[in-house]
Amino acid sequence: MAFPGLADRVAEVRARIAAAAARGGHGQQVTIVAVTKTHGPDAARAAYESGLHDVGENKVQEALKKIGRVAVPVRWHLIGHLQRNKVKSLEHFVMLHSLDSPRLADAVCEFGIARGRAVDVLVELNLSGEDTKGGYHISDVLPEAERLSALSGIRVRGVMTMASFTASERELHRTFAEAREARDVLADAGHPAVELSMGMSNDYEIAVEEGATMVRLGTTLFGARAK
Ligand SMILES: *Cc1c(COP(=O)(O)O)cnc(C)c1O
Repeated sequence: MAFPGLADRVAEVRARIAAAAARGGHGQQVTIVAVTKTHGPDAARAAYESGLHDVGENKVQEALKKIGRVAVPVRWHLIGHLQRNKVKSLEHFVMLHSLDSPRLADAVCEFGIARGRAVDVLVELNLSGEDTKGGYHISDVLPEAERLSALSGIRVRGVMTMASFTASERELHRTFAEAREARDVLADAGHPAVELSMGMSNDYEIAVEEGATMVRLGTTLFGARAK
């Protein structure tokens, strides 16, 4: 087994998620997206065998190489920035978590129309105010919600966000609650927005307390990354 102890870590994470969900009281189901970036295809296979059927990658090139080498039917999620000239690669993913600009939305929509099936996307929110991170600012969500309604080639399934690594527990709660409210704004605007992709290895319990429906976990499952 390439990742010894993975099954035990998955059980531990599931228990922590269940406890956090109970504390939070939002009543949501939580999907673990196993983030295999920098690891080989064996990580995706090991995840699948441990019952994690959703796998996330943040770089298109690396993902495509891996996808071709994984025979088990995992659902691949693209969680990192997508360049507009690579939208065709979305064919290999069940969901784009990182819709981070109106121009990308237009390109993804065009691809969805061309293939005859809308692309499931999450609107990425930049709530930490860090310029190094992509995504929509909160004040852009409402106007963009209306604009996205006209784009028949995409289906807005919710929002994604990444909190700052230096945030306090209080700030994490506030950031994740803000993401939840933005998701509700999209739903109120008529989008099928139910998903809340937030929480990584260091903050997923707080994210679940605030209603996360998808947590993206790398390090806590597979150990520290080499690169
Ligand atoms: C790497 C990555 C994760 C997982 O991070 P860990 O801290 O290792 O759990 C989650 N989301 C995104 C977008 C990532 O790039």
